[in-house]
Amino acid sequence: MDFLDAGAVGFGTDASKIDVENPAAVQARLARLALEAEVVAVASHNWVDDPLSGETWPMHRTGFLSTYLAAMQAAHGQVLFTGSDIANGLCGFIDGAIESGMRAARDAASLLALHNS
Ligand SMILES: Cc1cc2nc3c(=O)[nH]c(=O)nc-3n(C[C@H](O)[C@H](O)[C@H](O)COP(=O)(O)OP(=O)(O)OC[C@H]3O[C@@H](n4cnc5c(N)ncnc54)[C@H](O)[C@@H]3O)c2cc1C
Repeated sequence: MDFLDAGAVGFGTDASKIDVENPAAVQARLARLALEAEVVAVASHNWVDDPLSGETWPMHRTGFLSTYLAAMQAAHGQVLFTGSDIANGLCGFIDGAIESGMRAARDAASLLALHNS
């Protein structure tokens, strides 16, 4: 049998579901995914507990965006909302931040044009 050194990266909605500092726990989780792998080392970082980040990117549940996205994007008078977390695409990534920022900039320009007309 050939052996392959590989790294696996995982994300989830609930950090309490698995002790990512425990190789045996990670091994057990990989086995549930039917992955034949021997875990030799694990590394993790709790970004939510890190005071310099305080969060990670959003991990929305199914249906969250279709239910709430339009309301979260909606302007309230002259107050506009923007940010990766409320982007249409690649929500939670830098591309989403750019998309959402461009939309807000266009909306702000329209509001200013209206104000100045
Ligand atoms: C640990 C980590 C790793 C990531 N890795 C990747 C990656 O590899 N690739 C990728 O594409 N994305 C990654 N992301 C996601 C990406 O960094 C974010 O989606 C993106 O930075 C969000 O940009 P944003 O402008 O929407 O929000 P932010 O970058 O969070 O900007 C919001 C700004 O508003 C400021 N602010 C907040 N409240 C107020 C207030 N009341 N008054 C004034 N200012 C305020 C904040 O200080 C902040 O500067 C990662 C995120 C984290 C946390």
